[in-house]
Amino acid sequence: MTSKGVAVTSFLRILSLLKDLSSIDDPSSARTTYPAFPSFAEHIAKLFSEDRLFDVLPRLAIQLGIIRRYDPPVRPAMDPYVSTQIGVFSKNFSDWEIGSFLGYPDCCMRPYAEELRYSLDEEHVRELKQVKGRIFVTTAGFIPHSVFCKESHLRGLIAFIAREDVERLRLLENELSSALPHLHPEYQRHYYEIRNA
Ligand SMILES: [Zn+2]
Repeated sequence: MTSKGVAVTSFLRILSLLKDLSSIDDPSSARTTYPAFPSFAEHIAKLFSEDRLFDVLPRLAIQLGIIRRYDPPVRPAMDPYVSTQIGVFSKNFSDWEIGSFLGYPDCCMRPYAEELRYSLDEEHVRELKQVKGRIFVTTAGFIPHSVFCKESHLRGLIAFIAREDVERLRLLENELSSALPHLHPEYQRHYYEIRNA
């Protein structure tokens, strides 16, 4: 796989956001620092200030180490335990805020937030029919506006890979599950969506 560290870069972006939010003294100031996700940033900063996220950064450091070792072409979903703790799955925040925090491009967030395009659908399948002999991979939980979305490819959120590279992603999923057990039912050994093109 030729990934050029794109998944690592994408994951480091989230990790550094969380590190920054962990060190803010006044949680309300996070609103101005992160105008793309003000409510969510304030919420996370507040949880950190109340010491309710003490195990989040150590878990993400472990996940980063594993991602570095595999250097995959697509970022795996963030540790579902962490996502749960910080409120990614909470309905208290808009899809725009959560998507911005996770580094999703606007072109993909729009159909998700406005047309409730919550899963890979027949339009994605139609596009995939144009691609022969490659496997399509997305970060679990992320739905691109198109399987050809350039911005998502650049951000390490989607990729086309060779059939023989799928096994390596499965190994990465298994290793993440063993190293970082969690209770989220939909994300057990599931950090990627992998489809035949
Ligand atoms: Zn897009």
